[in-house]
Amino acid sequence: MYPLMDEKNMMEELTLLKREVEKLKEDKKSIPPHKHCLNCGIAIPPDKTFCSKKCEEQWNAMVKKKKLNLYVWLVFMAILILLLFVGMGGGL
Ligand SMILES: [Zn+2]
Repeated sequence: MYPLMDEKNMMEELTLLKREVEKLKEDKKSIPPHKHCLNCGIAIPPDKTFCSKKCEEQWNAMVKKKKLNLYVWLVFMAILILLLFVGMGGGL
């Protein structure tokens, strides 16, 4: 139950919204393309992954550590499951 007046207002609002979006697009254009350092998160040129050699080394060391942790965790789980199976076998 909307009169025609509302439709006109809606169109006006839509035009305003369009203008706002265009403004936002222009604002985005003003920011040069950039990436963030994987290790510390500061803005860096898009052709780089890290801000410095030190950050790259830190990141690689962290990934290595994480992989090792995951490996240790998997081995631990495997032993736990094995123990569980052995325990069940012994109970029977
Ligand atoms: Zn960094």
